[in-house]
Amino acid sequence: MATASLVGMLAAMPPPSTTPPNQGKPRIADPLGAVVHGAPATARDAAGAPARPAPVVRDRDDACPGALRLHTADDGRLARLRLPGGILTNRQVDALAAAAERYGDGHLGITSRGNAELRGIGDTCGTGLAELLRHTALLPSERHERIRNIVASPLAGLDGRGHGTLHPWLRELDALLCAQDWTPALSGRFLFALDDGRGDVAGLGADVTLLAQAEGRAVVRVGASTVGVAAADAPRAALEAARAFLATAAAAGTGAWRVRELPPGHEVALARTLADAGIPAEPAPVPDAHATAPAPGTAAAPDGTYAVIVAPVLGRVTSTQLRALAGPGGEVRITPWRGFVLPGFDERAAREKLRRLHDAGFTTTPDAPWAGVGACTGRPGCAKALADVRRDALPGPGVLPVYWSGCERRCGHPHGDWVDVTATPDGHYTVAVRGAGERQVPLGDGELAIAVAAARGTAAPETARTQATGTGTGTGTTTR
Ligand code: SF4
Repeated sequence: MATASLVGMLAAMPPPSTTPPNQGKPRIADPLGAVVHGAPATARDAAGAPARPAPVVRDRDDACPGALRLHTADDGRLARLRLPGGILTNRQVDALAAAAERYGDGHLGITSRGNAELRGIGDTCGTGLAELLRHTALLPSERHERIRNIVASPLAGLDGRGHGTLHPWLRELDALLCAQDWTPALSGRFLFALDDGRGDVAGLGADVTLLAQAEGRAVVRVGASTVGVAAADAPRAALEAARAFLATAAAAGTGAWRVRELPPGHEVALARTLADAGIPAEPAPVPDAHATAPAPGTAAAPDGTYAVIVAPVLGRVTSTQLRALAGPGGEVRITPWRGFVLPGFDERAAREKLRRLHDAGFTTTPDAPWAGVGACTGRPGCAKALADVRRDALPGPGVLPVYWSGCERRCGHPHGDWVDVTATPDGHYTVAVRGAGERQVPLGDGELAIAVAAARGTAAPETARTQATGTGTGTGTTTR
């Protein structure tokens, strides 16, 4: 069945018989335990458009883990390492592999912000980890380590699209953030997105977004406000926008961590902020943005160089896999879609690297079984988990990405259109399509794999049924 007709069929189906216990309640869950009042991220208004969340009231500062502030999880302590733009040198890749072996559980997890996580860290290992990070320039400022949340277009400068490299913006914005006394007041979740103009990371819902434009211009977006500035002024404009957010949040008095949490009537006055900072700005239209992951494979640049694009199964690599990523470009880029971009190859070397990484267990083609499949930590690492989602997650091709969550918090879920598979307290999963055409997907007994495959827009139910029973890797049932 063609994808379009399958989607139509699913849209016409009746509502599901089971719903998550909190569905529709005005509450935003926080994976690290803050009490928060608001609306679910997927709420929609009466016209079906994404609804602005109800005002959020935070009752404390964020508890996001960092490289120095470790979070105690059920599988040991957890360190989250901010990597602006997801960029690592080969030496840093090797250092993180060593850190995973020496202090963690031998793996590196990739987050939906292109950051890295080490899990299973022993109680006495924090000091050694920090020292290792300092030696490899991964901890340039201890006061600022949790607020260096910057995503960047992973293929910037590598495939002839967009407006070239983002390295100058990345370096300048990171340096500006680390040079200010006030920036540690930002939440560990406050996010900057630097987009090379193609509109990929601009679709990730960042708090402050810079989009490169032609002829040395850039668009700055904060909430619903956009202005145009000179590209050379863009990093400073992002910094000033963040400063204005803190002032606006303080005036609102609701403890907002993110721009979208500001209550109505307390929007960041972007144009006035930049004018006060002496940054010339003019009105600019809202650019198109689609949170689209780079497809696994290779990408060719106009100069004849190639980049290799791969993804680890469920966003986690062993230390051995991590070391295998190092390449002739001297750089590894972690993407916000939990993948890796490796620049600096000629065509033949790129093909050879791709083959080796396939043999090492990476996803290297868009139609590979685990392409587009993600999962949160789940059991046993997360105390809030209702299921071992990483064990239950099913491979299979699909148009839409699918994300398996161990509870309704859905930590690290994708943006844009995606399939949401969430564990419920009664030992089942719910399946829903999020984004455009949002809807629940009904489940019958023994039909989880079929429902997920159909929701992803992959195949007719009969084909999906064959896939589900033929791979031997899924439960094929709604009951865990
Ligand atoms: S089970 Fe998953 S979604 Fe729920 S809190 Fe844990 S990591 Fe987040």
